[in-house]
Amino acid sequence: MNSKKTKNKNTDKDKNKFYTYRFRIYPNKEQINYLNEQISYNRFIYNFFLERSIHLYKYHNIKFNYIKFQKIIPLLKKGFPFLKEANSQSLQCSLQSLDKAYHKFFTKQAGYPNFKKKYSYNSIVIPQSFKIVNNIIQIPKLKSPIKVKFHRHFYENVNSISISKTISSKYYVNMLIEKFKFTPYIPKKTLGISTGIDLGIKDFATITTGTNLDNKQTHKIPNPTILLKSQKKLVKLSKWLDRKVHKRNKQDKTTASKNYLKFKNKLSLLHEHIFNQRQSFLHKLSSRIINDSQVVVLEDLNIKGMIKNRHLSKSISDVSWNKFVKMIEYKSNWYGRQIIKVDRFYPSSKKCSTLNCDYIYKDLKLSERSWICPKCGAIHDRDINASINLFLEGLIFLLEYTKKYGSNLSEFTPVEYDTAGYRNIGISRHTMKQEAYQFIDR
Ligand SMILES: [Zn+2]
Repeated sequence: MNSKKTKNKNTDKDKNKFYTYRFRIYPNKEQINYLNEQISYNRFIYNFFLERSIHLYKYHNIKFNYIKFQKIIPLLKKGFPFLKEANSQSLQCSLQSLDKAYHKFFTKQAGYPNFKKKYSYNSIVIPQSFKIVNNIIQIPKLKSPIKVKFHRHFYENVNSISISKTISSKYYVNMLIEKFKFTPYIPKKTLGISTGIDLGIKDFATITTGTNLDNKQTHKIPNPTILLKSQKKLVKLSKWLDRKVHKRNKQDKTTASKNYLKFKNKLSLLHEHIFNQRQSFLHKLSSRIINDSQVVVLEDLNIKGMIKNRHLSKSISDVSWNKFVKMIEYKSNWYGRQIIKVDRFYPSSKKCSTLNCDYIYKDLKLSERSWICPKCGAIHDRDINASINLFLEGLIFLLEYTKKYGSNLSEFTPVEYDTAGYRNIGISRHTMKQEAYQFIDR
């Protein structure tokens, strides 16, 4: 038990040390057969040891033990000759993933491990002996290399790879790559540009970007309509399926019909489709923002979390927001941009964004989409006002930064930034805002 604890600690540490890159691969028929076989061997090992440990615990009160089970794998090849075709290292990784699943169960992070099914998401880990050259990947025991489409440059030091198969039988390679193996730099065109992002429900985000108050531009990014359409379809289909089969009581032995299974498969394909659509929308938006700014200012998501909205769109926004913020975070790390997260007490929506006015509308309700500042008379769209305030915080940061390090921001200076990558800003700084106004593009 002790050794297990330290082992899992290491994997958590590793999580922070590596990035995972995912690329679609295009195996031919022979390669597909090979991959499917390997996946089935891995599934076999996973399910075999899961069954074994359930049995051992039930009848002998013995708990799952990775070290002991690992030694059994080579012996299994005698009883199950097909395992001789398997990549032994991948089999060990499969047992490791069961070990992880048990760890999550024992630490109450997840439920009891499930048996792996054939028609679900499946993957194999290849820890070594793989080769990546240009647009091909060579894996052990497979004679011909598999075609890959790399949509970004990746760097050497690939730690390990895994190959996964989605429900719709698409194949991907996931590459684990060590972080900070290259020096980030900011191109000149982004110097001095601040971007404030206000995440919303009606529109996905409202974004204000620029180098000062005069040249700032504000855009509302609507939720993608294709995604909304798929989500509507999803709700319809899940409701339909819910009505079709349900156990009316414990004795009810209704089994799923062929038609039901067909639609269930359709549902999982739709889930995958939505995942891809959302992923591509978030990637495009986050990349564009990181490409075009030196400083990105976001709100701490906890503020948004407090919004109580029973609408379905809420739960969907939640997922997207979290993913989006994570993408902004790691991409800013890659490219040496600065992220500022304003804390939950920063009144981004309630503060008047007009220059020389710092009125805070304390009683702003969630239902109020716009308001008039009683001090200066400005009419504010709630989301636009918030994004301008966040944008201003970015300008203030740049101003402080210039004061500290001089205005000779070179293309290669971001390393001097706040190493944590975050700063929390709570108080409003009236004079700083005025200075920021005069802060001119260098
Ligand atoms: Zn005002």
